[in-house]
Amino acid sequence: NDGTKPEETEDYVPDFDISKPSIARIYDATLGGKDNFAVDREGAAMIAKYVPKIREASQDNRLGLRKGVEYVARQGIDQFLDIGAGLPTQENTHQVAQAINPNAKVMYVDNDPIVLAHGRALLATNESTAIATADLRDPPSILNHPDVNKMIDFDRPVGLMIVGLMMHFHREEDPGTWIRALLDACPSGSYLHMTDFVDTGYPEQEAMEKSCIMAMGNGWIRTPEEIEAHFQGLPLVPPGLDYPSRWFPGETDRELTPVEDLEEHQRIIMAGVAYKP
Ligand code: SAM
Repeated sequence: NDGTKPEETEDYVPDFDISKPSIARIYDATLGGKDNFAVDREGAAMIAKYVPKIREASQDNRLGLRKGVEYVARQGIDQFLDIGAGLPTQENTHQVAQAINPNAKVMYVDNDPIVLAHGRALLATNESTAIATADLRDPPSILNHPDVNKMIDFDRPVGLMIVGLMMHFHREEDPGTWIRALLDACPSGSYLHMTDFVDTGYPEQEAMEKSCIMAMGNGWIRTPEEIEAHFQGLPLVPPGLDYPSRWFPGETDRELTPVEDLEEHQRIIMAGVAYKP
């Protein structure tokens, strides 16, 4: 640390409003992190009224993140573009990927400037990992970002990650266009890894949607078919989408816990990885 406060660095724009909750900070609060304000903790507490095991549900999303990154890294992918990175927490993408391949590069992207401030401080000593502020709704803001282009070589396969992010977009928005723009920039041999809130008719899934909308105005659940459509027709790695605790990408001969025997918090997220042939 050179003593420079994040808000004093050139491109840091402190435009966040601490009187309003943010997705990144509410999620951090649900995971028991410290990078949040009272208004975010109130949001997390509101969700917990309806989803008492919200912390475990968030951890379940992190499990889906870890399993997907491990799988993709084992396929030889050595550069990851992680969109909607979130605030630093345990077992971040770079730690998971670099445990498998110490040379793996990880580019984090988030549209919340507070994530940039915290990420910069944390990553100052890791040359293979960087973070940029850009928006999934505006793919050129990601694809043309100089820091992204310094880290990611779009002539080589990429591990594209949109984990814990799709639920924040209403179905009337057009995430398919944004995802296709990113996939078009990634060559054959790339992977797309996503997790999302799922709707298979369990009451805890509806409780998640209802409480998230109350706490932060978004957090919609989608049917597995709707989630699968976000992969833009790319083939999903078998067994396809599943709940993180029973999701083992690339392995189809495991005996799995029946869905009805999972705990409620284990039935909120689904994860999947697709391959770009
Ligand atoms: N990917 C991490 C994970 O799954 O644990 C963090 C997920 S967190 C629930 C969602 C993150 O997406 C937040 O940090 C939020 O700031 C970010 N986000 C929300 N909308 C975004 C957008 N349009 N573009 C980029 N990031 C966005």
